[in-house]
Amino acid sequence: MRKNVLIIEDNDQNLYLLTFMLESGGYKVRSARDGANGIDMAFRDVPDVILLDIQLPLMDGYGVARRLRSNPALAEVPIIAVTSYAMAGDREKAIEAGCDGYIEKPINPDTFLSQVEAYRQAGATAKG
Ligand code: MN
Repeated sequence: MRKNVLIIEDNDQNLYLLTFMLESGGYKVRSARDGANGIDMAFRDVPDVILLDIQLPLMDGYGVARRLRSNPALAEVPIIAVTSYAMAGDREKAIEAGCDGYIEKPINPDTFLSQVEAYRQAGATAKG
């Protein structure tokens, strides 16, 4: 079972926490701290799921999601926005930009892995 995840997150603490939880769940984790690097890594080696912080330096998560979706090789890869924004409009923006869904900060450790796993399985099914 392929469980390669790419995390695009600029905050050290969040990145550490996400990495720890995902590795505990059997995921192989790669990470980038800005959108340009994340896009480059995703294009070079297509992950099974992408966790995307929305508040990033230079290019925000919406722009990153649009760039990722512009690559046909990444069309079926689940992109999960990780956002502290509580407003429904920002969730809609993430979906419009190409994200499949979102997980809110602060991360709930009790539900986080099962949420990621649900998205990963949906993507694996879509790819066939
Ligand atoms: Mn951030």
